Amino acid sequence: MSELNRTHNPLARSWVASANVAGTDFPIQNLPFAVFKPKDSDQDMRGGVAIGDQVLDLKALAASGCLADTGLAQKALEAAAQPCLNTFMAMGPQAWQALRHALFDLLEQSTSPALQARVQVCLVSQSLVEYGLPARIGDYTDFYTSIYHATNVGKLFRPDNPLMPNYRWLPIGYHGRASSVLVSGHDFHRPAGQILPPGQTEPVFSACKRLDWELELGVFIGKGNALGHAISLDAAEDHVFGICLLNDWSARDIQAWEYQPLGPFLAKNFATTISPWVVTMEALAPYRTAMERPDHKQDDVAYLKSEHNSQQGALDIQLRIGLRSESMRAAKTDTHWVCQTSYRHAYWTLAQMVAHHTVSGCNLQAGDLLGTGTLSGPTLDQAGALLELTEGGKVPLTLPDGQQRTFLQDGDDVTMQGWCEKAGAARIGFGECRATVLPALFQK
Ligand code: MN
Repeated sequence: MSELNRTHNPLARSWVASANVAGTDFPIQNLPFAVFKPKDSDQDMRGGVAIGDQVLDLKALAASGCLADTGLAQKALEAAAQPCLNTFMAMGPQAWQALRHALFDLLEQSTSPALQARVQVCLVSQSLVEYGLPARIGDYTDFYTSIYHATNVGKLFRPDNPLMPNYRWLPIGYHGRASSVLVSGHDFHRPAGQILPPGQTEPVFSACKRLDWELELGVFIGKGNALGHAISLDAAEDHVFGICLLNDWSARDIQAWEYQPLGPFLAKNFATTISPWVVTMEALAPYRTAMERPDHKQDDVAYLKSEHNSQQGALDIQLRIGLRSESMRAAKTDTHWVCQTSYRHAYWTLAQMVAHHTVSGCNLQAGDLLGTGTLSGPTLDQAGALLELTEGGKVPLTLPDGQQRTFLQDGDDVTMQGWCEKAGAARIGFGECRATVLPALFQK
């Protein structure tokens, strides 16, 4: 499903003018999926596809009959029109492709004026909608696939032993919390919990003082697997519906006290923010690239190793994250970007995450969410968490108005963006993933 086809043609244009504007995240080659409804309405959520600055309302399109004689594409459209995308995700790559290609044809500039008019009435301005979570997320698992992040953080916690010996052999992960996954724009309260003050032997209960972000991608599982039946590496991407932006908010002081011996718990379970738009694997096909490991390790265990995965398993997705404090917003100062990196630096690919997750026989289900882990690149300005950027809180960042930050303060607004861009392919983007830190509800 990763071959290039007519939907990737960089010269293709849409009759929706905003989709042809240079730099748009949503040209006709992208066509990502979300769930939305008219802003402040009591209508039901329904599936939508981004085109330029518009959303194509899939519920309205399904009712219009424009795809009525297309068979699989119409079936896929009816599933994607529902208030969450789980049924559509479970249909698998042939259905996803049938709908993508049918939507491409409807939106392409040579579409007949009569058909354009029928589709036009299904478009809604993105400025007039609010988004929901793309799927009912049954389970959420967060990985740790950047060796740069693992090493930077390991140095802070264990200076003499930063990288555990298992790191180069398996994609490390933990089972996270699905109930607190929020869609972009939903603010959250600073967590409180047990913290061990420096030099003390007993913890105190306190609002988190070391609140951090983690720059990640989220992976939505499409068709699941039966319990007991692992997904092979080369079949893994047939089970992946698409990718969104993900911010895994982290309470570093709570984490430091609780994480041994079983790993993260309350330091991670209070909020995770994802972008509303899910970019499909087919849309990302032009941006596949070879795995890029700094240690050039190739002798993976057999179930994590294939020629295709080594040559094409990575994705060159550009990512950046930035901060806008309350006073910056009051002064109308734009977001201050503090990190830019690419997903291609990950040590483990998305297919390896899926193969490893299921090698025990664990069953993934449609709508499950996998986080890649913090995607730090090789240099410090590509570090995806404040913990790394500030060297454990020792070297503050300076904001444009002179304020300093080691960790997040109340009122700080954090935005992530993602996009893919290269010569010979259409630029596509992920939109944004944004939320503001509200004060803790439990103070002591
Ligand atoms: Mn994480």
